[in-house]
Amino acid sequence: MSHSSFTPDNELGFVSLVGAGPGDPDLLTVKAVKRIRTADVIVFDRLVSQEILDLASPTAELVYVGKKLDHHFVPQDEINQILVDQAKLGKHVVRLKGGDPFIFGRGGEELQSLAVENLPFEVVPGITAAVGCTAYAGIPLTHRDHAQSVQFITGHLKQHGEDIDWPSLAHSNHTLVFYMGLKQCPTIQAKLISNGLADSTPCAIIERGATPQQRVLSGSLQELPALAEQAESPSLIVVGSVTELHQQLAWFKPELDV
Ligand code: SAH
Repeated sequence: MSHSSFTPDNELGFVSLVGAGPGDPDLLTVKAVKRIRTADVIVFDRLVSQEILDLASPTAELVYVGKKLDHHFVPQDEINQILVDQAKLGKHVVRLKGGDPFIFGRGGEELQSLAVENLPFEVVPGITAAVGCTAYAGIPLTHRDHAQSVQFITGHLKQHGEDIDWPSLAHSNHTLVFYMGLKQCPTIQAKLISNGLADSTPCAIIERGATPQQRVLSGSLQELPALAEQAESPSLIVVGSVTELHQQLAWFKPELDV
């Protein structure tokens, strides 16, 4: 009953670029579970939970390429090379990434390094943090009374945030979701307010969304930097009046409810 146009072939090496979703292992796609179970090698990073890795075959080789104990990342070139080398050895490699591999996940870059070597690959999409964490926080990204559009933005900004088109973001009927933005909250706040967004605009920080440790910190844009100081990575920053609906629609009961 498979609609997949790509059938993993044991003779040839290939890479499945797989999204692991935002946390809850039950948010994996059926296809992701199939690929994780049959992989020879799983190359994974920090945001992938142990419960998901436990789905791997006992004979699979697990390669961690996230932040090391000394807080250094494995350089992207090295990760690309691991994928190329393992595929050339004829392995079925699962490159497992948190959320969706094409949303701020460098999945495109990794596939480009395989494409230039003519190595076969496929993409198994995952639920990106913006979708999964807001769902678990009871925050609809759009709502007829609040937001007609939504935008996903990297918070990994250049020094003064000059790489972002701030005027296009500062609209009251627009939901903004910043990934990797915790350290940049003072800049995010200042830019949005100076471009016309009210400092009373509701916002929320979702910490470890869709996991038993989920916390949702809500307040106004004025309070955003102070909220960010209380939060830890991974956290998602959501700006817009939809965040107010958390009070009414929160349904997920994390272990550490606050
Ligand atoms: N490819 C991933 C994003 C990688 S960037 C995806 O599609 O979700 C890493 C950032 O994602 C983190 O800094 C954080 O902003 C966000 N993130 C990922 N998982 C999260 C989670 N469980 N809770 C809150 N934020 C999360």
